[in-house]
Amino acid sequence: MNNEWFEKDFYKVLGISKDASASDIKKAYRKLARDHHPDAKPGDKAAEDKFKEISEAYGVLSNAEKRKEYDEQRAMFSSGGFGGGRTGTGGFGYGQSGGGGFDFSDLLGGVFGGGGARTRSAPARRGADLESETTLAFEDAISGTTVSLRMSSDEPCPTCHGTGAKAGTVPRVCPRCEGSGMQTSASGGVFTMTEPCDVCRGRGLVVDEACDTCHGSGRAASSRTMQVRIPAGVKDGQRIRLKGKGTKGENGGPNGDLYVTVHVKPHRVFGRKGDNLTVTVPVTFDEAVLGAEIAVPTLGGAPVRIKVPAGTPNGRTFRARGKGAPRKDGTKADLLVTVEVQVPTAPTEGERAAVESYRDARDGGDPRATLFAGGA
Ligand code: ZN
Ligand code: ZN
Repeated sequence: MNNEWFEKDFYKVLGISKDASASDIKKAYRKLARDHHPDAKPGDKAAEDKFKEISEAYGVLSNAEKRKEYDEQRAMFSSGGFGGGRTGTGGFGYGQSGGGGFDFSDLLGGVFGGGGARTRSAPARRGADLESETTLAFEDAISGTTVSLRMSSDEPCPTCHGTGAKAGTVPRVCPRCEGSGMQTSASGGVFTMTEPCDVCRGRGLVVDEACDTCHGSGRAASSRTMQVRIPAGVKDGQRIRLKGKGTKGENGGPNGDLYVTVHVKPHRVFGRKGDNLTVTVPVTFDEAVLGAEIAVPTLGGAPVRIKVPAGTPNGRTFRARGKGAPRKDGTKADLLVTVEVQVPTAPTEGERAAVESYRDARDGGDPRATLFAGGA
């Protein structure tokens, strides 16, 4: 039993009286369906909603059994038989969840039974989120870039404007869900689940003759290329959200979001540590011992000069402020410069002699002595 039935005045929708004959109903429907057929007004959302409403009303009233049931439910409903939920202030609900569906047009147009044309439109639906991924050069990830993403998505079929019906034919209200697009299934036990109707796949309408282009689905796969701005400072593996760049919403619902997973290619020289950039620079033995001022490359900028103090051990890290990746707040992180003392692997004769004289002059005893201190 479709709870939404009692909220709607199908007679009014078709512009007929409560005692209209079957042929009056058919006549009224044909005229309205012709006037409001989506083919006649492509892209007109209001006409499409109206058409759906007309089709739904006809689907119920043209079936003697359903019409009888509907009349009984309406009579009970208007006489207050459905509890107080409809007139109280607590009965607001959105969506198609059955029961309690109180919409604003009730407030504005006078409660059922009274005058006021009531147009009930399909519920707003948020567009689906989309997922994509992209691979960036290291530099582009640091500075931000614009990438082209080829997205495929589902849009209303351009031939039938989403109705799924062959040109010149008219969709019918789905007999299974009676136009709601939802069906209730018992999932073993006391719980029931509401899910999209599997006859009409949630559209509420079925077609007898399918559109040749979309074969009745009403949807068309489309692919478009989108320019997407990737903010500065993204990291490898990061998933960024681009609000409103997903599938278009339906019936005034918001667009979905686009999520882009970013892969960043490694750089030959630089690495990342959070927002900081890292670089390892070789220094010679004498630079480490005697101290030196060395030039260090930066990403996309002029080299910076770093003072390596006398007596710098291997592996010490220096910080070049503001030479890293941009942070969210617009400031820039640092470049972490780690020195790596080079050992001459093939010393010349002169170098060898110099190191030998260093050895002879060295005054520090055994550097490993502390390892054995306190031992045996
Ligand atoms: Zn259905
Ligand atoms: Zn189509």
